[in-house]
Amino acid sequence: MILVPRSLFLLAFKCRSRHNIYRYIYPYIIFSKKIAQILVKQQPEISQSQSSNLDCDLVIVGGGIVGATLAAALKNSNLNIIIIEARPLEVAAAKTQAYAFSPLSSRIYEGIGIWDKIFPHIGKYSNISLSDADYSQQVKFNQKDLPGEHLGYVAQHNIVLGILQKHLADCDNINWVCPGEVKNVTTEKNSSTVEVELNGEQRFITTKLVIGADGARSHIRNLAGIKTRGWKYWQSCVAFTIEHTALENNTAFERFWPSGPMGVLPLPGNRCQIVWTNPHAEAKALAELNEADFLAKLTTYTGGSLGNLKLVSKRMVFPVQLMQCDRYIKPRLALIGDAAHCCHPVGGQGLNLGIRDAASLAQVLQTAQQKGQDIGEIKVLKRYEGWRKIENLAILGFTDLLDRMFSNSWLPVVALRRTGLWMMSYLKPLKIFALKLMTGLLGKTPKLAQR
Ligand SMILES: Cc1cc2nc3c(=O)[nH]c(=O)nc-3n(C[C@H](O)[C@H](O)[C@H](O)COP(=O)(O)OP(=O)(O)OC[C@H]3O[C@@H](n4cnc5c(N)ncnc54)[C@H](O)[C@@H]3O)c2cc1C
Repeated sequence: MILVPRSLFLLAFKCRSRHNIYRYIYPYIIFSKKIAQILVKQQPEISQSQSSNLDCDLVIVGGGIVGATLAAALKNSNLNIIIIEARPLEVAAAKTQAYAFSPLSSRIYEGIGIWDKIFPHIGKYSNISLSDADYSQQVKFNQKDLPGEHLGYVAQHNIVLGILQKHLADCDNINWVCPGEVKNVTTEKNSSTVEVELNGEQRFITTKLVIGADGARSHIRNLAGIKTRGWKYWQSCVAFTIEHTALENNTAFERFWPSGPMGVLPLPGNRCQIVWTNPHAEAKALAELNEADFLAKLTTYTGGSLGNLKLVSKRMVFPVQLMQCDRYIKPRLALIGDAAHCCHPVGGQGLNLGIRDAASLAQVLQTAQQKGQDIGEIKVLKRYEGWRKIENLAILGFTDLLDRMFSNSWLPVVALRRTGLWMMSYLKPLKIFALKLMTGLLGKTPKLAQR
C-alpha cells in the first residue's frame, strides 16, 4: 500500500460534499495509480481510496470476472464506480481454471474493447459433440451450423480477469478498494452506505446503488435478506487440465455417463480442461486416485480419443448446486452472476449468464443515467430483473434437465433421451435451436454485443 501524506488525508476527510471530495482526492488517486503501476510491474495495482468517507454513484462488491465486466461495460459512462474486492487483486486473478465462453460472451468483450487481447491466449472450438455413454449415435455440431462464428472458446480465469484488471486500471471513473471486507450496508431513501474494512480501518462509502457480484455465498445478498431457492446435487465435479497427443484440438465434447456428464474443452498447446461429474464419494476418490490409475480411467472414459494423457494441474473438487434468488433487486441493490443464480456446470453456462447479467445491467443503468433517472430506483432496476431473471431460469432448467435425463439408467428415460439425441441429429431446426441455446444466441442481446 502507498502511504498518503497526512495533510492530504485530513483534507480529504474534511471535504464531505461529493463534489469537493472528488476535486481534492482525484489528483491523488490518479497519481497513486500511476505510481503503483510503476512500482508493481505486471500488476495493475490500483488506487486505494484513502479517505474515511467516500461518495460514488455505484459500488460493486466482488471484483471477480462478473463484477469486473460490469465495471468495464460502464467505463464510458459518467458514473463514478468503486469496486470492493475481498482478496488482493493478484490473488483474485490467480486461478487457472478454464471456462467455456459462448460466442455471446465474446461479442460482449468485443463491445468492451478487450476481445482482441483475450483472443490470442485462449482455446477455440469449431465442433461440439454430444454423446450418451457408449451409445453410438452422437450429435455433432460444426461451424456450418452457425456461420461466421466459432462455436465457443475456452479461457482461463487468470487470463480474462488479468486483462480486465489491466483495462480497468486505465479508467479514471473506476477505483478499487482492495483488499476490502464489507461489514454492513444501510439503505435510506436516496442512498446506501457501505461500511468496509480496509487494512484494519473502517471506511464508509455513500452511493446510489450497490451491486452484489460477490459469488455464490454472497454476503451482500445475505445482508439484504434475499432468499434463495434451489438444491444441492448428489454430485461433485472434478476439474483439471491435461496435455494430450491427439492431432486435432478443436472439438468440445460432452459425454453423458450414468454417474454424471464429462465435459472436455480444448485449450491452446494441446491441452484440455476437463470437468468430470460424479456422485460425491466417487468424485473425491477420483481426485485422490494415484496419477497413473487416474489417467488410465480417464483414457477409458474419453474412449482413447485424446491419445496419451498427462495431468498438468491439480484435481479440484466442487460440489454442484442449483440456486436462483427470489429477487435480483431491492431499492438501491442489484445482484449479478453467481450471487443471483448458480447452475450445474454441464454445458458451461454459469459464468456466461453472469457476463450477460453484467452487460444487461450496464445497459439499463446507462440508459437511466442518460434520461436523468436515479440509477438506484426500483423502477429502473426492475428493467434489469425483468430482462434477466426469466432467461436465467430457462438455462438453469435446461442444465438441470440435461443432468437428470442423462445421469439415469432407468430404461424408459434411456430410451427417451436416445430418441432425443436421434431427433437432434436429424431435425435441423431442433439442432439449431439447441445450438443457439448453448451458445447464448437466444434471448435479448445486450447492445454491447450487437455488431
Ligand atoms: C467445476 C466448474 C466448472 C465450471 N465451468 C464453467 C464453464 O465452463 N463456463 C461457464 O460459463 N461457467 C462455468 N462454471 C461456473 C462459473 O465458475 C461461475 O458461474 C463464475 O465463476 C461466477 O463468477 P462470479 O464473478 O459471479 O463469482 P466469483 O467467481 O465467485 O467471484 C466473486 C468475487 O467476489 C469476491 N468476494 C466474495 N465475497 C466478497 C465480499 N464480501 N466482499 C468483497 N469481495 C468479495 C471474491 O473474492 C471473488 O473475486 C463452472 C463452475 C464449476 C464449479
